[in-house]
Amino acid sequence: MERVIRIVAQHVNKETGEVLDSVVCREDAVKKPETLMELGYLHIEQIELLSSLQDFKIKHQAVLINQSDVCPNCNGKARAQGIIKSTFHAALTDHDVLIRRKRCTCGWGSKYSLEGIYGSTLHPDLLEKHAIQGSENSYRKACKNLNYESKSIRSINNVDRIRRSVSKVGEIVAFEKLQEVNEVKKVDAVDNLIVVVDGGHVKSNQNDSRSFEAMIATVYDPNNLKVIDKNHNEITQKTSVASAISDEQKTIKQLVLNACRKEGIHSKVTTLTCLTDGANNCWSITNTLKPYTKTIVNVLDWFHITKRFTVINNTLNDSLKDRLTKIKWHLWHGDAKTALERLNTFIKDVTEEKTSEQLTHLYEYIKRNQKHLVNYQKRQVENLPFTSTLAESSVNSLINIRQKCNQKMQWSRVGSHNVLQIRTSIFSKSWFQDWSVAQDKIYKKVA
Ligand SMILES: [Zn+2]
Repeated sequence: MERVIRIVAQHVNKETGEVLDSVVCREDAVKKPETLMELGYLHIEQIELLSSLQDFKIKHQAVLINQSDVCPNCNGKARAQGIIKSTFHAALTDHDVLIRRKRCTCGWGSKYSLEGIYGSTLHPDLLEKHAIQGSENSYRKACKNLNYESKSIRSINNVDRIRRSVSKVGEIVAFEKLQEVNEVKKVDAVDNLIVVVDGGHVKSNQNDSRSFEAMIATVYDPNNLKVIDKNHNEITQKTSVASAISDEQKTIKQLVLNACRKEGIHSKVTTLTCLTDGANNCWSITNTLKPYTKTIVNVLDWFHITKRFTVINNTLNDSLKDRLTKIKWHLWHGDAKTALERLNTFIKDVTEEKTSEQLTHLYEYIKRNQKHLVNYQKRQVENLPFTSTLAESSVNSLINIRQKCNQKMQWSRVGSHNVLQIRTSIFSKSWFQDWSVAQDKIYKKVA
């Protein structure tokens, strides 16, 4: 006895049970699997099955489009004027959709393409995949990943199309994120917030400039910092924002304020601690937040201080290492004055030109940021924020992975900005909501 599994799709009148149309989607012999490969359906067979099911459903849905014989313009009789084929790109498969075209003697004509009727030929699921894949990988890699998933080379998954999808979605997300967020009610306000502001470099596609800076900020309530184990922490709730636009920081300042408000800032309740690497363009962002806080504390990020010491330390011999460590110790205890004095004599004592130069840069760095130096040791004891070590992954995960300077890919500011909007949305775990808003803007609903 030969046995098969037959998959049949039926179009049925639910009331009478009458089968109006049916199709055999697959028929496969049932045999003992000799290898695991033979168990169930192959990846490609699964895709083929979906594809034939889709074709069947789409066929019966498409007849319902432009079905009415009444002209919406004059209420006269709308007449059929042929059937037009549109290509539809679903999440994993592509399909032809046959759409009836209607015309009226008054001059009215129905829309007859998916683009015209719904605003796109891409199913929202595919557009979302494009946006996510293209913001996380190079466009070429995104094509590969998507085609692998569909087990075929689909013309829709090409570099240019994915780039367009990313910018279409990114632009809308960017626009929405710029809309002013209201201050929370006093009862909902949080006592403390931390904002970490940093910049990352992106390779420019303009001939005259090699790179530009994108600004990134992450805002979180220290209460949302959960210790996983000795070396791992997680910020369970945070809002990250980024801008690559050159507009005298107008965009990033609005985005950072919005992020603070989402995290519950209140001008009479919240103490905001700002951690930066000391660059002027970071302080200029945090300083605009002052009117929206009860207290603002600018702190030169201990993470960045340590980083600078470590770089120099690695080039020194042991006796000099000790001297440098002591200077760092003064800074750790909030004694910038002594640290600067010691550093100054250190520079004079050093004979090696490279070391002298590095120490001078360090001296200038500390001097420049002196008013933002705090007693780090004391803050640690009092459990107050002083380092971005915990949030520092932002620049790395938001810019470097996708747009790092030494990668071949070159960016326009706008292109980079759009990618960053999608990345920050995913990073802030607000993608679900942001995408839902974007989807409503991109797609039209048919009455
Ligand atoms: Zn009409």
